[in-house]
Amino acid sequence: MIITEQKQFEKILKSLEGAEKIIVFGCSRCATSCGTGGEKEVAAIVKKLEKAGKEVLASKVLEAPCDDRLNRIDFKEVGSGVFKTADAVLVLSCGAGVQTIADISELPVIPALDSLFLGRTKRIGKFYEMCVMCGDCVLEKTGGICPVARCSKRLLNGPCGGSHDGKCEVNPNQDCAWYMIYKKLEKQGKLDKMETRQPPKDYSKVIRPRKVETR
Ligand code: SF4
Ligand code: SF4
Repeated sequence: MIITEQKQFEKILKSLEGAEKIIVFGCSRCATSCGTGGEKEVAAIVKKLEKAGKEVLASKVLEAPCDDRLNRIDFKEVGSGVFKTADAVLVLSCGAGVQTIADISELPVIPALDSLFLGRTKRIGKFYEMCVMCGDCVLEKTGGICPVARCSKRLLNGPCGGSHDGKCEVNPNQDCAWYMIYKKLEKQGKLDKMETRQPPKDYSKVIRPRKVETR
């Protein structure tokens, strides 16, 4: 899931300076699961905007703001007249959703959330980074623990010399990713994997922006 957090309302208001008639969109997927852009959060921000003197022309939790196909259906429901009258669109979704809407709308599109990372949800409010989408997954070699996302130095061969009592030297509150990898492989009887040196990642494979065009 894409983990997001809401920007301070004052910051959002500043970004909306000069815009009086606003459309507010949320996201029924990650932002809803995160508690940052679902029905409740959209209703709350609409209330705050109105209190701040803005006119909210329409608000809707979109099925998936990052998906053109679903946006087409949702936007029809909102109505093209609203888009013609509005001054700006405020989007409570990750950056992918914001940019997708910015690409298909002539209006200024303002992000209400900060996109933090791709992570695991333990429970609402407890989110943990798991993957930086490096494009060349090595989890089969590391006991299912990502050294790129979970080691502070992103070491492909670890641990570094600073690992101490199973903790990371960069962030002592955090378990050393490579200690965890060692323990996991030890449990699985696959410690030989630790002896294989992993070559540096070929970052030429991840020239941005990346795309998949298979059809
Ligand atoms: S190695 Fe880590 S960052 Fe790369 S794809 Fe796998 S989980 Fe994601
Ligand atoms: S102590 Fe472990 S997690 Fe921290 S930087 Fe070194 S190898 Fe990575």
